[in-house]
Amino acid sequence: MIETVDNYDRAIAAIKSDIETWYQRFAVNNEISLAEAKKLLTKAELEEFKWTVDEYIKLGMSGDPRWHKQLENASARVHLNRLEALEIQMREQVERIYRGRETATREYLANLYEDNYYHNVFDIEQGVGIGLSFTRLDQKRLDLVTQKPWTTDNKTFSDRIWTSKQALINSLNRNLTQMIARGEAPDRTIAAIAKEFEKDKNTVGRLVMTESAAFSAKARADAHAELGVERFEIVATLDANTSEICRDMDGKHFAEKDREIGVTCPPFHPWCRSTDVPYFDDEFTVGGMRVARDPETGKVYEVPANMTYREWYQKYVVDEGKEWSVKAYRNRHGDRKQYEAYKDAIGKSNMPLTFRSFQQMKYQEPQRWDLLKGYKSEVTSGNISPLVGFKNFEKEHNSLIERFVGTKTSDGIEIKGIKPHFTARKIGTHEWMADDASKEIRNRLRYKAVKSEQIEDALSSGVYRDTLRKEKTGKMMLSRQYQGQECVVTINPETGMLIQTNRKKRK
Ligand SMILES: [Zn+2]
Repeated sequence: MIETVDNYDRAIAAIKSDIETWYQRFAVNNEISLAEAKKLLTKAELEEFKWTVDEYIKLGMSGDPRWHKQLENASARVHLNRLEALEIQMREQVERIYRGRETATREYLANLYEDNYYHNVFDIEQGVGIGLSFTRLDQKRLDLVTQKPWTTDNKTFSDRIWTSKQALINSLNRNLTQMIARGEAPDRTIAAIAKEFEKDKNTVGRLVMTESAAFSAKARADAHAELGVERFEIVATLDANTSEICRDMDGKHFAEKDREIGVTCPPFHPWCRSTDVPYFDDEFTVGGMRVARDPETGKVYEVPANMTYREWYQKYVVDEGKEWSVKAYRNRHGDRKQYEAYKDAIGKSNMPLTFRSFQQMKYQEPQRWDLLKGYKSEVTSGNISPLVGFKNFEKEHNSLIERFVGTKTSDGIEIKGIKPHFTARKIGTHEWMADDASKEIRNRLRYKAVKSEQIEDALSSGVYRDTLRKEKTGKMMLSRQYQGQECVVTINPETGMLIQTNRKKRK
């Protein structure tokens, strides 16, 4: 639109080359002290630098007059230190990105305003079916609109552009000095500076988006005033990304005289996608449709225009069991990291095939997700071999559930569930092996697993003792240990969960 990515890339490339040349010239072994950096340029160096400055002056004739003046001053100076010279070079790159930005933004916003104004007038006339008379916009009015601040801090978009430029220059200079003071190598300095540019790009993008939304709102307000529309209604986007405030504001209507950007009318926040439409007390909007997006499939469909965000959400998201995908979308960045971490820890073959199916498991199959978490923790703490694999682990776990859940211990406690750690203890520290593995394999792998019959034997033995043990969280837990011939089985007598099993040591 206004900014091209190229401008930023070009600026970063230019600064990279400036810094590299500077280090080559003044640093020893890629390092330079602050004192060295602040040494004055020699007469020859100064002469050479003035050529560069004169180049900048020629290039930037139509740019910021304040910068122009500062360059002229630099060109006339008899003393200039190395750091100052580099700062001027960096500043010029920033000025180049910002050069013309204000004019371009003003033009863009004026066009946007004009477009929106006429569209609104047209739409309203279509709606009421008669041609109303309205004022055409002229340059004077557009200038007035673009120069009037709309926020409570009384800043116009030009002020904001100027502020963001200053912030970028200041942070670049601060970064540079700090890097030199810390003795960083130039590549790290360049990386830090590139990051600052990246931040600036986002700030400017956000600024333009917010200003655009505000100028569209102004155009709507002016069109309404022109045609005598007295009330407006907020329309939020019907999809999963809509902010809380916009969900609440959707469907509300206000008098035009109470229109206040950010309070009663959008944008309510940066990147706000809400808008407003004329509101009439009669059936003006009846029969109309609005668009919604399915959070699970991303498909777009229509719902009646008078359905509010909250109504849509209940009917099409909650009632249809799709709330999880809203959560999945919101947590996508964190989940992506978790997905990668899990892949690293337990291997791709033990994971759901895609990120999508990973999220599906996490939000829709809480028990399998708990088991996967348990499996990962058992593998990473070395309780079971990674060669067991999640499939076998799950199979073993499910067969334990089938065999034990619902049965009772000798003292009448009903077993209600099985912790992943129990399954891991049952499988044993060494290679995965089925209960009916041959004696030869058993010996070869020094099998330390516990067999299901041995667990059953312990649970029905009638020999047990209670102990208190401290959880990782610091909470004290009661547990009951059943002594069998071959193993000890621990359960939580309050929850009925099987926690732990250990093979007895042979004397
Ligand atoms: Zn919004």
